[in-house]
Amino acid sequence: MPASRLRAGAVLAAGLAGFAVGTEFRGPHPPGTPSFVRAIGAVDDLPESLRLAFAPGPGFAPVSRPAERGQSFAGYVRSGPNRATPERRRVLLVPLGGREIGPEELLPLAEYAERFFGVASAVEPAMGLVPLARFFRRDGSTGEPYLDTTALLDLLAARVPADACSVIAVTRLALGSKSKAALAGEASLRTRAGVASLSAAGFRRDAMVLTHEIAHTLGIPHCVHYRCLMNEGGASGKPMHLCPVCLRKLNHATGVDPVERYRRLLDAYRTAGLDDEAEWTDERVREIDRGVSPGR
Ligand SMILES: [Zn+2]
Ligand SMILES: [Zn+2]
Repeated sequence: MPASRLRAGAVLAAGLAGFAVGTEFRGPHPPGTPSFVRAIGAVDDLPESLRLAFAPGPGFAPVSRPAERGQSFAGYVRSGPNRATPERRRVLLVPLGGREIGPEELLPLAEYAERFFGVASAVEPAMGLVPLARFFRRDGSTGEPYLDTTALLDLLAARVPADACSVIAVTRLALGSKSKAALAGEASLRTRAGVASLSAAGFRRDAMVLTHEIAHTLGIPHCVHYRCLMNEGGASGKPMHLCPVCLRKLNHATGVDPVERYRRLLDAYRTAGLDDEAEWTDERVREIDRGVSPGR
């Protein structure tokens, strides 16, 4: 697998801890420690609202057995990631397969992505793609049909509009590669292109797969720091939110204000009836408003 491609497989990464309870921060990067500076970077010169937004409050649960190497915020900046610029500031969702997905079905997901990334999002059926038959494969063991994401991403990468910071092709068909139909999505850290498969599981799962893949197109790799949307693996068992390290990367990529973003997401979670995410987000905004910065 090329290092620049990261996949959301069907299997959840093992070893995730539950949410920390209480107000004492017990995560892996307590503010002010060398570990915090390594992962999140120096924050002392930031405006207070950003400093608080990037401080890991009690709502951020550690990963119990983190992989040894994860990308820090400084490493992200050094990687020269794809960022949203004034000239390149749209996230496009492209429905695949003609009758499979109507553009109107993607509008709620585009609206969620807009709130999540702070960048205008649109459904772009007119972008079009060549007939999908070219990308059909069959799983070597089950015979299940799937679309070959590697071939799709190559095609998509060549068609990313100049004004888009991210293009995600969306299908209801299974995705896979290397003779296995086992992916929820795949995206390139470099070409601004990704692909995501919707499921019957509903808005939460689809919104998570989509935002995970869009974040990859902004150069954000898998996260080992906390329980986070960017943990490797499928949507099951992960939170919809970003940890402080990934949130700082997103702020670098699009300039989105973290607190305004949380408020917009809170509305979306309430509207969608995602009570647990609404509660988490509401509490996070309250923490930041109260100036809660553990360990300081
Ligand atoms: Zn991924
Ligand atoms: Zn993260």
